[in-house]
Amino acid sequence: MKSAKDWAKIYANEKWQQENYYVGNDLGAQCKIGLTTINLWSPVADEVTVNFFKDGNPDTRPYWTSPMRRDKRGVWRWSLPENMHGTYYDFTLVIDGEKHFAVDPYAKSVGVNGKRGLLIDMSLVRPDGWSEDIAPARTNETVIDEIHLKEFSYDPAGGFPENERGKYLALTHADTVLNGAGQTPTGLNYLKSIGITHVQLMPIYDYGSVNELDKDQHEFNWGYDPVNYNAPEGSYSSDASDGMARVKELRAAIMGLHRAGFRVIMDVVYNHTYNLDNGLQNTMPYYYYRTTPDGYLSNGSGCGNDIASERSMVQKYIVDSVLYWTRMYHMDGFRFDLMGLITVDTMNEIRRRLDNKYGKGEKLVYGEPWTAGQTTLMLDKPLADKSNMGLLDDGIGIFEDDTRDSIKGSAGDAGGLGFVNGADGIEWKIQNSVKAWRNDGSPFKSPACVINYVSAHDNQTLWDKLTATTPDEGTRRRQYRLSVGIYLTCQGRPFMLSGESFYRTKGGNGNSHDAPIEINELRWEDVAKKGCEDLANFYRGLIALRQQLPGLYDKGGFAHTRIGSQWSQPGVVGFMVDNTDDEQPSLWKFLTIVYNRKNEPFEFELAEGEWQVLATSADTYLWRHPETESGQYELGPIDFVILGQK
Ligand code: CA
Repeated sequence: MKSAKDWAKIYANEKWQQENYYVGNDLGAQCKIGLTTINLWSPVADEVTVNFFKDGNPDTRPYWTSPMRRDKRGVWRWSLPENMHGTYYDFTLVIDGEKHFAVDPYAKSVGVNGKRGLLIDMSLVRPDGWSEDIAPARTNETVIDEIHLKEFSYDPAGGFPENERGKYLALTHADTVLNGAGQTPTGLNYLKSIGITHVQLMPIYDYGSVNELDKDQHEFNWGYDPVNYNAPEGSYSSDASDGMARVKELRAAIMGLHRAGFRVIMDVVYNHTYNLDNGLQNTMPYYYYRTTPDGYLSNGSGCGNDIASERSMVQKYIVDSVLYWTRMYHMDGFRFDLMGLITVDTMNEIRRRLDNKYGKGEKLVYGEPWTAGQTTLMLDKPLADKSNMGLLDDGIGIFEDDTRDSIKGSAGDAGGLGFVNGADGIEWKIQNSVKAWRNDGSPFKSPACVINYVSAHDNQTLWDKLTATTPDEGTRRRQYRLSVGIYLTCQGRPFMLSGESFYRTKGGNGNSHDAPIEINELRWEDVAKKGCEDLANFYRGLIALRQQLPGLYDKGGFAHTRIGSQWSQPGVVGFMVDNTDDEQPSLWKFLTIVYNRKNEPFEFELAEGEWQVLATSADTYLWRHPETESGQYELGPIDFVILGQK
């Protein structure tokens, strides 16, 4: 029996690579009227049969097994002049004298817990209206809210239909209100009300950590543990045993998001898998994974294995998968988990293919430019981490951890301080954050590459972070607004964890990936609490103002030249912004923005002329009826101000 080391040696052979690289776009199963074809890439198999089942329950026996025919370049083929839509299937492979059972790596849907693929004619699994589904028009600024399907709609107070709580179908409702009566918006209705334009869905592909047969539907996980990359997760479906339901209901959810006015971004985890019992490993031992020279699995993901995107057929698999989700589910963008483990080549190829098909920049692509540990590449290729930003296409963005940490302190260290909660000597970092870190020699090509945020699913919520650093609640609430005021006035794309606009807390939990739903769920009662209503208004006004400020939302390569006259002193940062725009003129030609984290007022001299006060921590709607100021301006303690000049 071959070891991981033996396999690595075979796959490293250039002749083997050339003979077995397959470019065709027909891998996986296709069903249509009068024809079913199944194609599997496994050059190392000596024999492959396909097994057919009446249902997706992993315990039933096949009603038919049929041999597959070996074709060129390691592809095995099977076809029948009949539409087998609705039939479940898997493969038996003989590899190196051993029998392997495998789900199709390209399976479009799966039975319970992803143990078996489903032959599916996607044209027959459409919710009503799907053929007319289109994304809403783009707005000046992209404002992304990150949600987890179950967290978002599990709380009964959210007003979602009882049987859809925590499910795909909850996202088909754009009119939910608190406890089902009155005016207080919840769910998508709430996100719309504060000005969110893009919803980022935490993993919705099939993952392994939640038992889809869990009777009380109480199990919870974020889902960063992929099993079947091209199939939707079953625990969000109304019936996990029916592989059609998850496809149709996810499509309905995306259509619901589009109709409610949101573009949809899919969180994808092509850097590791739940474990090695999956269609990738079982059809091609150790081809899809990185191994060390000693034959151990590389573990740069911190999750036990790393996907080897530097191998040509792995890259093809990832690119095919992204294009599949875009085509079949109308995804408007992708967020790459641990993008720093994926090769630059793979990311650039994804960007190129999406641009070619849908227009330049139409689909968003961004990711985490880091890894969780050291990885072992199988071929020497650069990885899409922060140090290689210069090699990445300018249409690939990154989560800007320097901006995040500069504003409120290190995400990895709960007590770590940032600008708002008292770190000394980092005013220059805030100044850089404002310009999306676009300085001489900066690898970032434009603010389009930079995601600005102070909370995401990882680490502590903004409230919990500030609770750890700032015992006084009044001070903490002011720091909270200042944090948001800063990232919403930096160039780049604003991003937030859902619930940030109503002081979301996880009780201090800095890694709630498998914590109970009670820790993770959004508590919709909170939106009606005093303080939270004010905070929602604060976001609403500031986002609405930002949509009118080209000086801040400009994503061009020269946007940073709009920022001028930057100055600072301990605890205070100020600058001016050229806010002119020929195509979409704003009411204000220039902006002055000042952040004061000191717990005392701060007075400064305005540049010559009359200035209108557009927003402060206390009121972000001043721009609707602005008062005019000139000369000296007094900013409050722990406060910020945006002033505009006509
Ligand atoms: Ca699953």
